[in-house]
Amino acid sequence: MLLYNLVKDSLALLFPDLCVGCNTSLVNQEKYLCLNCSYDLPITNDYLDADSLVDKRLKARMPVNKVSSYLYFTGGSRVQRIIHRIKYQNGYALAQFLGRQYGGILKNSPYFQHLDFIVPVPLHRKRLRERGYNQSEYIARGMADELGAEVIINNLVRLVHQKSQTKTKGRYERFENMEGMFSVRNPAEFENKHVLLVDDVLTTGATLEACGVALLKVPNVKLSIATLAFTK
Ligand SMILES: [Zn+2]
Repeated sequence: MLLYNLVKDSLALLFPDLCVGCNTSLVNQEKYLCLNCSYDLPITNDYLDADSLVDKRLKARMPVNKVSSYLYFTGGSRVQRIIHRIKYQNGYALAQFLGRQYGGILKNSPYFQHLDFIVPVPLHRKRLRERGYNQSEYIARGMADELGAEVIINNLVRLVHQKSQTKTKGRYERFENMEGMFSVRNPAEFENKHVLLVDDVLTTGATLEACGVALLKVPNVKLSIATLAFTK
């Protein structure tokens, strides 16, 4: 153990952990993000706003209770680097860490009280095998630590592998492409429950809409949605 710590400390000196946001060496208690990047995160603070930008984006399309996103996502920003790490570079612990921070904020929102379940957008089995983890599940687990709701990963399921979508397709066509892609295996589990659907980034909203449509088929379910980031 002593040897392990010695090796670990020496490695840390040679290869210090770098900030995910700006690549500077992390010091002292900093974890994943340096103090600067932590303070400068573009937090939306939309959790008290009943009619936020993301509410507008999704409420027109389905009867959802409340939509919230933690961070603004812009190209080339530190949020983009964070999301990239979470999705493609084994960043599941970072996903959980940020989920916990976000959950700590949502705890103070009247819209996210009395949640029963937190449900991450499922990855298809093939994608899950390639990546080794579902980033949204880790975001959900971090949020659950703060919000005190149970994470359910095997009730909302993805039925078919997502076909590659050309960029020329509009929002509606993209949703058409995804309709029927998700299904709730055991509707009774979600009946009369407040379910929080969680994803990493909200862009067109087609995936969340397809999940939401499947969830809203459950009798008397209350659906809310939260994502770590969203593109304006
Ligand atoms: Zn930084």
